[in-house]
Amino acid sequence: MGNASAPFDVDLFVIGAGSGGVRAARFSAGLGARVAIAESRYLGGTCVNVGCVPKKLLVHSSHFHEDFSHASGFGWTVESTHFDWPTLIANKNREIHRLNEIYRKLLLNSGVTLHEGHARILDPHNVEINGQRISAANILIATGGWPQKPEIPGAELAITSNEAFFLPQLPRRVIVVGGGYISVEFAGIFNGLGAQTTQIYRGDLFLRGFDQSIREHLRDQVRGKNIDLQFNADIARIDRQADGSLAATLQDGRVLHADCVFYATGRRPMLDGLGLENTAVTLTDAGSIKVDENFRTQEPSIHALGDVIGRVQLTPVALAEGMALARRLFSPEEYRPLNYKLIPTAVFSQPNIATVGWTEQEARAAGHKLKIYESSFRPLKLTLTEDTQKTLMKLVVDADTDQVLGCHMVGDDAGEIIQGIAIALKAGATKRVFDETIGIHPTAAEEFVTMRTAV
Ligand SMILES: Cc1cc2nc3c(=O)[nH]c(=O)nc-3n(C[C@H](O)[C@H](O)[C@H](O)COP(=O)(O)OP(=O)(O)OC[C@H]3O[C@@H](n4cnc5c(N)ncnc54)[C@H](O)[C@@H]3O)c2cc1C
Repeated sequence: MGNASAPFDVDLFVIGAGSGGVRAARFSAGLGARVAIAESRYLGGTCVNVGCVPKKLLVHSSHFHEDFSHASGFGWTVESTHFDWPTLIANKNREIHRLNEIYRKLLLNSGVTLHEGHARILDPHNVEINGQRISAANILIATGGWPQKPEIPGAELAITSNEAFFLPQLPRRVIVVGGGYISVEFAGIFNGLGAQTTQIYRGDLFLRGFDQSIREHLRDQVRGKNIDLQFNADIARIDRQADGSLAATLQDGRVLHADCVFYATGRRPMLDGLGLENTAVTLTDAGSIKVDENFRTQEPSIHALGDVIGRVQLTPVALAEGMALARRLFSPEEYRPLNYKLIPTAVFSQPNIATVGWTEQEARAAGHKLKIYESSFRPLKLTLTEDTQKTLMKLVVDADTDQVLGCHMVGDDAGEIIQGIAIALKAGATKRVFDETIGIHPTAAEEFVTMRTAV
């Protein structure tokens, strides 16, 4: 076994029981290592407690509003509806608590020792937790990230995703600030639940890094849902009003009134009180822990992965990194460096976005001659309703090799559809393979195998 070494209390001490840390700990224990893990806040980390899982539950809740309005076209009369935020939050909390306990059992059943408290590195082989000193052959930093707010007057009056999941009431008017996927998702959640929602972003268009057609299509769909999108705008200060509400003064002098200002303007690596000064670990220019392709820091016994290394900040990536590290340390013959190519991803905006592979802009910049296939249509389900929302599908194809380089979608269940397409792209599918695939009718997904004419 890799680094197992008797003079140490454990072979691996993991700091942070989030997606990456738990996976690395359990997998390492499964490979026979003696493993301990520390968690200072919540078992399961960001994803389970204040990230992917509760967010998706809130997204589900916010869709009912539209479903009720569609129902009449299908012959249903929905007499009256009422939404109760405290019920949603209480039910969500119960489910998250259940998941926390599942994580506890998974760790204990796999033989990992759990320490609940803040861990601090004392030196390259020693960690302190709850007044106890534990020596380790290897230390893994998997401490994740933390939401950031800008340093403007009144920033303390604003919330982040950490607090949004526990608000006592649904605010009547919300300003969401940011242009990344979390801001787009929360604007959709608040709007769908009935809050008057404004989204402010300092750039020209949200979702930088996504395909331009997808960004523009989503912008138009979101505008159709009454979210007040304000691009090229930013908040200069926030003030509490006499009636308890907030006044957000924009840089151009305009004042917007709201009951909640929500910042989703990025996350910083969580390094607070970690004791990195006692090690040779170095940081990147962006402040993330610097690692090589094998998750090694500058300190040979200390490794890092997940959001804290600032690479691809997604749960499935942290899970894959955790498994890769466990193999490298405790089953080196099975180890392969992780392949970061073709990672599919979804944005649970309304409608959803999902994407895998290159955007048209990236592929052109890399010098590919392209054929672009694009289709925009009204989904069958909406044809009996007043809803004018449209689905967009796009394939980016290399004109010389016929290989499909990227696949992008805006529309219901985009994530469910693109997950399957990602397998095809991983297998190197050409457009011809897409064309030879028989569709499933009637679905939206069949459009991906029936687009024949390049635009
Ligand atoms: C609002 C939101 C929505 C998201 N939605 C998605 C999504 O839909 N899909 C997706 O794939 N990803 C999503 N993510 C990203 C995903 O949550 C992260 O990529 C993932 O959780 C990273 O895992 P991690 O193990 O690196 O860190 P984390 O899950 O953040 O875990 C780190 C853990 O370390 C603990 N910790 C920190 N310091 C210490 C210390 N010194 N001692 C002990 N414990 C410590 C923290 O309390 C935390 O529990 C979302 C994130 C947010 C914020």
